Amino acid sequence: MTTQIIESVLEEAKKQGAKKVIEVQLVIGKMTFLGTEQVRFSYNILVEDTIMKGSKLIIEEKDGVIECSSCGYRGEIPVVDDPAYHVPIPTLRCPKCAKAAKIVEGKECTIRSIRMVK
Ligand SMILES: [Zn+2]
Repeated sequence: MTTQIIESVLEEAKKQGAKKVIEVQLVIGKMTFLGTEQVRFSYNILVEDTIMKGSKLIIEEKDGVIECSSCGYRGEIPVVDDPAYHVPIPTLRCPKCAKAAKIVEGKECTIRSIRMVK
């Protein structure tokens, strides 16, 4: 995932004829389960030999949204405490009618902006 992002940024920088990328802003949906620390870590390693080296990475996390086709519910993803793991686990069940709902937001990982020096 991080590799793809960096490739896109480099491609865009090349198109614009940039000499150096100084800042990258990302929007990461929480339902991607990409830890921001993990992304940051890979980012710093992967940009090492590129014009993105030393650039600032800003990550904005976006909450997930589910939609239920049975009752039309649309909203936050309900979280249940799993006694086996003692961690809150997002469930894809509609909080209104308990039928299966699908994720409509929060699975994306997009580049919001790139600041570069030409
Ligand atoms: Zn429902």
